[in-house]
Amino acid sequence: RAKQDGRNIHRFFETAMDAQIQQRREMELDLRTAFAAEQFHLHYQPLYGLGQGQVECFEALIRWQHPERGNIPPGDFIPVAEETGLISAIGSWVLKQACREASSWPSDVRVAVNISPVQFRTRTLVLDVLAALGTSGLPASRLEIEITEGVLLQDTEATLTILEELRSLGVRIVMDDFGTGYSSLSYLQKFRFDKVKIDRAFVQNIHEGEDKRAVVRAVTSLCASLGIQTTAEGVETAAQLEALRREGCSQVQGFFIGRPMQAADVLQLLDSCDRPQEEISGMPVRIP
Ligand code: C2E
Ligand code: MG
Ligand code: MG
Ligand code: MG
Repeated sequence: RAKQDGRNIHRFFETAMDAQIQQRREMELDLRTAFAAEQFHLHYQPLYGLGQGQVECFEALIRWQHPERGNIPPGDFIPVAEETGLISAIGSWVLKQACREASSWPSDVRVAVNISPVQFRTRTLVLDVLAALGTSGLPASRLEIEITEGVLLQDTEATLTILEELRSLGVRIVMDDFGTGYSSLSYLQKFRFDKVKIDRAFVQNIHEGEDKRAVVRAVTSLCASLGIQTTAEGVETAAQLEALRREGCSQVQGFFIGRPMQAADVLQLLDSCDRPQEEISGMPVRIP
């Protein structure tokens, strides 16, 4: 009897695992054709500078329009692309596309591109960046590279060399999702980042009181003393925005400021928010 139950449980897990493996295989196949069929495009989310009172940058966020399954979020397919190695081709496309689209924006507006740790391992990143800048004509100073703490976990010497090479081109290097990793603070010593993005987890409750503010306050003041800019991620309310302003954050990003939008809407947004606009303090560039 017990043996029988055990067998059934075993079979249950096998079936569940088969289904999962099957799903992953399907997604891998779909990803390969998606790339050829041009089902990827980029959305852009504004980063608003609290000092100048204007949009200073847009973060490029990849979107996959699947013919049957609709929009698949990057959180679902980037890990599969990383495991299969497809991220190299996708990542180099993202760089090219983002630089090309940003080259038609005003010259004081930057573009930020997310880079996977896997792109560091394959060693083509610097060449990809050079190619993207070269073909688009975008000045290196208008490109920001966003990396997560995972990048600095692996093969650190080689990684630091690549970061230094990118830096020497004039590209800005940004630490994304700061505070969520294993030993976040130590990374600030390993490399001199131009900017740190404080994870949404620390921004969410910032308006609720002194102790919730403590982490953001500590990070902004530490970064300020190191000469590093700070961006608060995931700003969703006016109360959060005001608290972040008081804490001396350099930039804010989030649904309250502006949602990720199609490339075609970027120029319209920049025109309509009539920069600079210090007198508007509540809702900087919010789009209806
Ligand atoms: P991320 O780089 O931290 O990007 C910010 C994510 O937070 C985006 O999700 C954005 O839509 C979302 N977000 C922005 N403001 C708010 C807000 O106020 N509230 C909430 N709840 N969310 C907000 P998205 O576009 O789904 O991207 C998720 C992650 O996928 C990104 O996190 C990034 O790690 C990765 N990703 C996106 N595009 C690329 C890419 O081209 N290459 C690589 N390697 N990774 C990418
Ligand atoms: Mg990012
Ligand atoms: Mg982030
Ligand atoms: Mg994130």
